[in-house]
Amino acid sequence: MYRSHNCGALNASHINKEVTLSGWVQKIRDKGFIVWVDLRDRYGITQLVFDEERSPKSMMEQAQKLGREFVIQVKGTVIERASKNPNLPTGDIEILVSELSILNEALLPPFTIEDKTDGGEELRMKYRYLDIRRNPVKNNLIFRHKVTQAVRTYLSGEDFIEVETPYLIKSTPEGARDFVVPSRMNAGQFYALPQSPQTFKQLLMVGGMDKYFQIVKCFRDEDLRADRQPEFTQIDCEMAFIDQEDILNTFEGLTRHLLKEINGVSVAEFPRLTYDEAMRLYGNDKPDIRFGMTFGELNAVTQHKDFNVFNAAELVVGIAIPGGNSLTRKEIDKLIDWVKRPQIGALGMVYCRCNDDGSFKSSVDKFYDQDDLGQWAEVTGAKPGDLICVLSGETDKVRPQLSALRMEMAERLGLRKPNEFAPLWVVDFPLLEWDEDTERYHAMHHPFTAPKADQIELLKTNPGAVKANAYDLVLNGNEIGGGSIRIHDKATQSLMFDYLGFTPEEAKAQFGFLMDAFQYGAPPHGGLAFGLDRLVAILGGQETIRDFIAFPKNNNGRDVMIDAPAPIDNEQLSELSLKLNLKA
Ligand code: ASP
Repeated sequence: MYRSHNCGALNASHINKEVTLSGWVQKIRDKGFIVWVDLRDRYGITQLVFDEERSPKSMMEQAQKLGREFVIQVKGTVIERASKNPNLPTGDIEILVSELSILNEALLPPFTIEDKTDGGEELRMKYRYLDIRRNPVKNNLIFRHKVTQAVRTYLSGEDFIEVETPYLIKSTPEGARDFVVPSRMNAGQFYALPQSPQTFKQLLMVGGMDKYFQIVKCFRDEDLRADRQPEFTQIDCEMAFIDQEDILNTFEGLTRHLLKEINGVSVAEFPRLTYDEAMRLYGNDKPDIRFGMTFGELNAVTQHKDFNVFNAAELVVGIAIPGGNSLTRKEIDKLIDWVKRPQIGALGMVYCRCNDDGSFKSSVDKFYDQDDLGQWAEVTGAKPGDLICVLSGETDKVRPQLSALRMEMAERLGLRKPNEFAPLWVVDFPLLEWDEDTERYHAMHHPFTAPKADQIELLKTNPGAVKANAYDLVLNGNEIGGGSIRIHDKATQSLMFDYLGFTPEEAKAQFGFLMDAFQYGAPPHGGLAFGLDRLVAILGGQETIRDFIAFPKNNNGRDVMIDAPAPIDNEQLSELSLKLNLKA
């Protein structure tokens, strides 16, 4: 028996008990005549004591030679501590050791195994197994487990069946590049790793499975912007014989359950915004609604004056920054520089101070009088003491710029509170999105998404205006889930492929199996997928998903611990009928 108790279990009620513990040496304090050792395992830390008077000399010497992270087993008696540590669950007691065995020695770890460590991120990723011994990482993994357990329990309770789908498949268009795997048995042919189980879950609906979910790895070969992983986990779901309302209610239920179960937070019914409203009010299809600062469109109240910048602009739009009038001229200038940075790309910013006495002072006083500025305040909801910030230009450019400013100001003002949760649905996404590079429409969600039934005709005349039965679940400014009602008949699906620029041959080659299936009685169906990594991070009140993944990849998509990806030898290449053609 390696242990009778774990290192977090013992307290005053165990005094005088004989126990056996195993774990890692966290810390050694050697006073010569007395040695204390902190013994750590997943559950906590228990203090061990060896002393000259009560311990045999040989064991005393052995204890003095212990190193950090040695794996040891001890037998001993629980005794009361002379100086108690109220911060530790085991802080009232210590173990007077009677037997010590070293189960394994350890090299000195390259960083300290403490909550606040001296190790940089890359080093910790290289020795991730050591990092996992630290409380912050360990607790995140335990937290993730709790979330996935709660998901499984909830969905199982709602009659969902967890079904595994294959990883060695063929391209699923979620808009990213595929990771591919060469087939040895079929020379020159490749599997693609799933960007999601999208087509399979639809086939499960044709198969009559009715309510499906899967906690599943997805693979997307994208340039890794901050906080993305090439492999990530989805809670993937699909339902048949449902409409959009059923889906929203079911997964609102799941989300509410998680917030209650995991965070102890009850949230009211989730607000719903259409995509158009979200863009108009927040300039963003995943708005953070924990705070206000909604957009006010100012075209109507600015374009009758001689200010050509505004007159020429497609959109003039502002936000009121609460208390922003306290910013100095210099600070406002800095803010203007901030929106003009290439990452944001605004051409400039007009501002208007809302003075406490109800008067206004703007950077364009030459063109706008107090009455005009009063209208700006009305439209943006500005109060005395606020600062109105106004951007102008092309709608599609200005909205994200002002949204970035809104988020930045909220951050600076401490309005993005990690323990406050404001979920909402964004619905009625456009079906298609114009791609400047390829000069083509792309499916905004994916090509299996159904257009709104009454808008199929509009596809012919104004495809960009067609809305889809597609929805996102947004939490605290992050898209945590998204899905759609699917096309379930061959004719509409072919039409869709056609609009997306697939030739009938291409469509058949890539998705023939799905269109075939649609001819064998496909039920109406739809679904969605949550990004589990992000969901867990947000519920955990943190920003980076990497901290919730046991073995994450770095920004170059590398696993620095196992050193992957890595070359393969010529023999393996030839077995796969592959030849490298590396550019210098
Ligand atoms: N497959 C979609 C995605 O990965 C989700 C869905 O439509 O259910 O975003």
